[in-house]
Amino acid sequence: MLKLNAELPRALGLWFSHHARYMPWRAEPTAYRVWVSEIMLQQTQVVTVIPYFERFLKRFPSVEKLARADEEDVLSMWSGLGYYSRARNLHKAARVIAESGMPTTRTEWLELPGVGEYTAGAVCSIALNLVEPILDGNVERVLSRFHRVGVGKKGLAGFKLRLWGLSRQWVEVGAAAGVEPRALNQALMELGALVCEPRAPRCASCPLRASCGAFRAGVVDRFPPVVKRAKVIDVSETVHLFFCEGRVLVQKREKGQWRAGLWDLPLAVPSWVKKLRPQSAGEEIHTQHIVTHHRIKRTTRVWKLARASGPAPAGYAWVTPLKPELATGAAFGKCVRKALATLSLKGGPKLVS
Ligand code: SF4
Repeated sequence: MLKLNAELPRALGLWFSHHARYMPWRAEPTAYRVWVSEIMLQQTQVVTVIPYFERFLKRFPSVEKLARADEEDVLSMWSGLGYYSRARNLHKAARVIAESGMPTTRTEWLELPGVGEYTAGAVCSIALNLVEPILDGNVERVLSRFHRVGVGKKGLAGFKLRLWGLSRQWVEVGAAAGVEPRALNQALMELGALVCEPRAPRCASCPLRASCGAFRAGVVDRFPPVVKRAKVIDVSETVHLFFCEGRVLVQKREKGQWRAGLWDLPLAVPSWVKKLRPQSAGEEIHTQHIVTHHRIKRTTRVWKLARASGPAPAGYAWVTPLKPELATGAAFGKCVRKALATLSLKGGPKLVS
């Protein structure tokens, strides 16, 4: 196994100083901004995150503002990013921080809801410039290839542990060689994202190629090892889409239900709606949507209501379907758009946009 020398982190740091992409949290890397960005970046690409990050920070410019916000408001700013438990944990953690202050060590960060090893390492190194390692998918790929680390007898857990150890070596050797932890860790991530790509690594442009184990041995395609993905679980559900005066009815998912706290189409015809005599539009819309490892197969029954007769009761709301002002799940947008397209083709009800 290759021993790290000071030249490798220096070469990587130099490469990063020329190739780092603009990201709003990099321009002002406070602990709050880096933390929010890292939570948003879990399972989501940088280009997708940037507008959400900017909107979120505009609405909640400080951890105190976030702590004081209603959960619904937080979820609505998250709407469209998916994985809503991230937003709920972020909100809970903000309340802890508002009470006891911003954590200053990895151990303290790890005590917060929703903060795992990766996030703690990222915030500590990028925002606080502490000598702490990180390991996300990009770093994992770079280190696995560079050091030719595969899954050995100790399985996936052993593989990850080995890479965490190597990541720590990189940041420590880097710091001793004058490369700041925030630069070194972001450089590893950026190299994985821009050069050491999953399918077609651009080794010819890589600042580490002269020492890279997999490149030198011509076995780049064998690293990192392929890990089996979690099986996709099919979930079937029927929801009801009520049109009334250009709006659609949504219902808040309750505690204990899947996607709790989000608004979505009702799962049944509410008794108060039955009294308004809804008319079936004779339509069933079929959509399919993947959320983490669930494939949601959704049948949407379409109804028309002549009038809403006042505001909806608690737990329900009438919303403009194209721009829902409440936090709705991603499946909502898909089936509503499909319903709109189908109905407008058939001269269906006119909707407010
Ligand atoms: S030389 Fe190729 S495989 Fe090795 S770290 Fe660079 S891009 Fe990745």
